[in-house]
Amino acid sequence: MSQRLEGNVVVTGSNRGIGLELVKQLAEGTGEETHIYAGCRAPEGTGAEALRDIQTQYPGKITIIKLDMSDEDSISAAVQEVNKQIEAGGLNLLINNAAINQPGPLAPLSATGKKDMMDVYETNVVGPFLIAKMFLPLLKRAAEMSSPAKDMEEENMSCRRSAIINISTVISSIHKCPETFAQVQMYPYRVSKAALNMLTRCQSLDFKRHNILVTAIHPGWVRTEMGGSEAVLSTKDSVLGMLTIMSSLGNKDSGMLVDWQGNTIPW
Ligand code: NDP
Repeated sequence: MSQRLEGNVVVTGSNRGIGLELVKQLAEGTGEETHIYAGCRAPEGTGAEALRDIQTQYPGKITIIKLDMSDEDSISAAVQEVNKQIEAGGLNLLINNAAINQPGPLAPLSATGKKDMMDVYETNVVGPFLIAKMFLPLLKRAAEMSSPAKDMEEENMSCRRSAIINISTVISSIHKCPETFAQVQMYPYRVSKAALNMLTRCQSLDFKRHNILVTAIHPGWVRTEMGGSEAVLSTKDSVLGMLTIMSSLGNKDSGMLVDWQGNTIPW
């Protein structure tokens, strides 16, 4: 069943690309009950101008939080800041969107090294792992605060109640690798997102007892700095699709990888 997303939402990497559009559409499409915490590395910098403009457009609805996903202290400070503002409330939805990519072919051999592998892993996997761990008390609180209606007891998990969405990619799929490898090698990125998928599955099993849904979503191939200008989708269409899918996710989708149109992608 599809229900409008509401509540307290955290989006990481929200100053440009898909993250910026997530904040925009969430601000546009939700009611007064919703507050968006927009994580961004440099809130005062020129790279966050578009985000500050959206914040001005929706007074009182968006808080910009300084957050560097490759820095444990920064993650901890951001979580404390959100905790302070939410007070007795909980966190309904954490969207782990921030990520980096490195071109990452193996030839020439010098093109990809240890630093590329480690940097990408740190931002794309360690960051989402740490932030979920640190937000767990707030996610649990949100799940406890909203019990499903009697006739919905079977379907007790949703993005409205308490959820983590890890933004993954179709090229993380080991099953689909023979189809996708020739076009894009990207060793560090692929490997990091496959690890993010494993994190998603583990968290879904672990957090099920708290009624917290955990799903990985592929946004499609999207025109952003990362996706490039040849990509087929606008951020608008990708995010519209993903938010529609998020609002309909339920128990059966926890621990899965789905795309922006709701199709399941095999691991
Ligand atoms: P962009 O490169 O356009 O934007 C990436 C965002 O992540 C920026 O806001 C960037 O901030 C932020 N970011 C990077 N590193 C960090 C960090 N250490 N801490 C905090 N924020 C950080 O990428 P997209 O918008 O295209 O990608 C968004 C998500 O979608 C990613 O998870 C990506 O893997 C996924 N994806 C994208 C596809 C596409 O075609 N575009 C396809 C499949 C998946 P800053 O400005 O500070 O660098």
